[in-house]
Amino acid sequence: MSDKKLALVTGASRGIGFAIAQRLIADGYRVIGTATSESGVDKLRASLQESGLEHDALVLNIGDSEQTTEALAKLQSDFGVPFVVVNNAGITRDNLFLRLNEDDWNNVINTNLTGVFRVCKALSKPMLKQKAGSIINISSIIGTTGNAGQANYAAAKAGLEGFTRSLAQEIASRNITVNCVAPGFIQTDMTDVLPETQKEAILATIPGKRFGHVEDIAGAVAFLAGEDARYITGQTIHVNGGMNMG
Ligand code: NAP
Repeated sequence: MSDKKLALVTGASRGIGFAIAQRLIADGYRVIGTATSESGVDKLRASLQESGLEHDALVLNIGDSEQTTEALAKLQSDFGVPFVVVNNAGITRDNLFLRLNEDDWNNVINTNLTGVFRVCKALSKPMLKQKAGSIINISSIIGTTGNAGQANYAAAKAGLEGFTRSLAQEIASRNITVNCVAPGFIQTDMTDVLPETQKEAILATIPGKRFGHVEDIAGAVAFLAGEDARYITGQTIHVNGGMNMG
């Protein structure tokens, strides 16, 4: 058994989640990352174990209540109770409101908001017993600004920030912090699908004159997970190159 602190990163198979997993490994955590498929888990496990065999991966679909309960029970029996939980997994199903159907609304709310509820529900009680920990939820600039074509995503991320502040108040006395990191535009699979013209228009709105890198988000997560952030809770740290300043 490793004596390193355990960190769970959901949606670690690629993009921001993978960078967070790598950063937490570099910072000395034992990291368990998740992917939605067995093949994704095998690939992720192999990547994480390049840094040490104590790291591992498991299948998790936060959109499925039963599977989430089972997977997080397995996490605890195989690896223990995490000190750091990064709720990173998320999806988009973009469409202008007039064309947005109820399935796309429900899928995004079910994954990006209810999915985080499920993970916190499964892990908060054992974390409370442990009397130490950090929950870090990956929100989005869109939760603050809104965005045409993303009513479902904006609602989920704004809801996630309200959820974060409420849970933070309930468990602060047990030495568990709950915060959000809200990325701006970060180069990943999620944003690669956007048309070039849209990307150029977005770039023009970023005072920092570049898109974010996954490591920019991982750095903020590492800070919130660490000792220097023990007195920070219920907050949202915006990492967006100045794209929105509140
Ligand atoms: P990404 O490249 O599309 O990766 C998404 C990750 O989430 C993958 O690991 C995926 O697993 C996992 N996932 C998807 N559905 C899931 C489910 N039902 N249960 C569990 N895991 C699931 O996304 P990203 O750009 O890295 O975004 C990561 C987070 O940052 C998301 O919450 C997103 O909303 C947020 N964010 C991103 C940006 C940006 O510009 N990229 C901006 C603001 C906020 P599989 O590989 O198995 O599908």
